[in-house]
Amino acid sequence: MPKKTSVSPPELYELSERVVRQASVRPYQRARGAPLVRPLRLYTLDPSVSDRLGGVATANVPYEKLDPGPTGSLFQVNWEGAPAPLRSAPLNLDDPDLLLSGGLAPTPADGRFHPQMVYAVCSLTYAAFRRALGRDIAWATTAPPEGPHRLVVRPFGFRGRNAGYSREAGDLSFGYFSAGRDPAGFVMPKGLICTSLSHDIIAHETTHALLDGLRSLFQVPTNVDVPAFHEGFADLVALFLHFSYADVVERGIRESRGGLLRGTLLTDLAREFGYARSKAGRGAALRSGVDVDGVAAFDSDVPTSSDSRPMSYDEAGTEPHTLGSVLVSAVFEAFTTVVRRKAARLFSIAGLDFRTAGQAPISDALVKAIAQEASDVASQFLNVCIRAIDYCPPADMELGEYLRALLTADTEMERSDKWGFRESLMRSFRRRSICPDHVQFLTEDAMVWRSPDVTLTIPELAFRELRFDGEPGQPADVKELRRQAHALGRFVTAPEHARVFRLVAPGAPLPKGIVQASPPTVESVRVSRRVAPDGRVLFDLVAEVTQSCTVRRAGDLFDVNGGSTIVIDPHGEVRYAIYKKFDSETRQARQHAAMRGPLAMFWKKTGRRFDLQPNVLRLIHASR
Ligand SMILES: [Zn+2]
Repeated sequence: MPKKTSVSPPELYELSERVVRQASVRPYQRARGAPLVRPLRLYTLDPSVSDRLGGVATANVPYEKLDPGPTGSLFQVNWEGAPAPLRSAPLNLDDPDLLLSGGLAPTPADGRFHPQMVYAVCSLTYAAFRRALGRDIAWATTAPPEGPHRLVVRPFGFRGRNAGYSREAGDLSFGYFSAGRDPAGFVMPKGLICTSLSHDIIAHETTHALLDGLRSLFQVPTNVDVPAFHEGFADLVALFLHFSYADVVERGIRESRGGLLRGTLLTDLAREFGYARSKAGRGAALRSGVDVDGVAAFDSDVPTSSDSRPMSYDEAGTEPHTLGSVLVSAVFEAFTTVVRRKAARLFSIAGLDFRTAGQAPISDALVKAIAQEASDVASQFLNVCIRAIDYCPPADMELGEYLRALLTADTEMERSDKWGFRESLMRSFRRRSICPDHVQFLTEDAMVWRSPDVTLTIPELAFRELRFDGEPGQPADVKELRRQAHALGRFVTAPEHARVFRLVAPGAPLPKGIVQASPPTVESVRVSRRVAPDGRVLFDLVAEVTQSCTVRRAGDLFDVNGGSTIVIDPHGEVRYAIYKKFDSETRQARQHAAMRGPLAMFWKKTGRRFDLQPNVLRLIHASR
């Protein structure tokens, strides 16, 4: 658990050390006239995809000055541990030759290219989060006493068929291994496979680190959806990032003749990695966003029937990757449904019947137009998937709640739903039986979170009272962050407010089943700044207040986390309090059963007490 600073007097609440960590991340301050981007060449999937097919692209990575490593303001690539043929001097991307050539040409054989690949994809993933949330994301790892707080990235982390993020170790670590005697695809028999060359794996692991920075309790597996969400969300970000590579998208669409889904190039995750693991002749990728065959069935608008339906939530079991893939499939289906609607319009403008898509080659102009639409819709989906994190409850996440968060995040930005974006999401989730609790209707108004019944205003948190450093995405300093957190802490623990935020106020009687309640903790207060499609710039404050209560159940003792995610508008009014209750008998029973059953590997039992194991995300990956 993060260290906390006590407030005295009176000790009504605590501030998590995460509050001030928001000031520890200081991205590169671009000097006037400095370049905006640094072009870097990379693999869009992995080395097994031919250059001719768009397997290599030049990506525009946000510019910053780099030290050898590369070491920038957010990431520090540590090249140590390379196997013999790949050992080399540290990479200096600020070398004038490399600046002019877009970095090194992609090749698995040059040990200096691996650091370039991880640096580029880590930076692009971070940039996607910054764009969606309108602020910088602080790492959950321990910050150094001074200097920039960077995440260490190890492209040659260890020998093994895996990769992982660890909050405790403060790093992303990528494994390498030898392929089998007879691997599928174009992988060399017994060749060296490096997970640090897979675009998907790097984006996936970076997303774990970013999500952990945003929500620390999403690493506490209190129900089977929690680890599945971490995995599914990381795959979704990796999947949608592909669509930023125009060549790859065009290639996929050309290959499918407009049918989009026939081209597996876009959807198969971690292709080479999966090929190398598979038995001879079985070229299945590691995971895939698509779980039904054919174009027609992968459609939000098709009601499920016994012969045409995707894997449902109830059939997926409890393994985090499999359960997470149901979420990936639901969001990806909504995406393809929206792209299909837009492509149908382009077909009709071109005088073609969309029902013939996939049967005959289509003109280059049409391919390019559809690719552009697919890219635009993908970036909208990516934005809303990330933004939805600000509308998730602070703990004990459920996949159905993510649907509510997605819809709320999108409604906040765009009132109209011209292309049926939100409707497709609702239907695709429904087709997989991912349904939120306590929602009676499959309609937008029933699904979005509601504002509190009473008007609650925190004047000290109105926009006019906030202090920034240059721009609203950047808090002024640690003092200002503490001021905001205290204003929130005082407000939510006032006896008349605690109930709204589902907190047990200090001195209040303990709810049923609870033997002890820790003081409420302000976890974070952050600005969210977004540009709506109609050009409006929207600002909100997003805060988490949590509380941990010890529950006794059938003689066992364990902690249940609750509290609220609080969204505050520029006038200081509470727009949403997205809460988790402690006193829910169902929640307590569910957590107890999960800790003794499918999630037992994440919990250590000492006597009658359950405690969390360290390195939860590494344990999840090891379970695969
Ligand atoms: Zn993962």
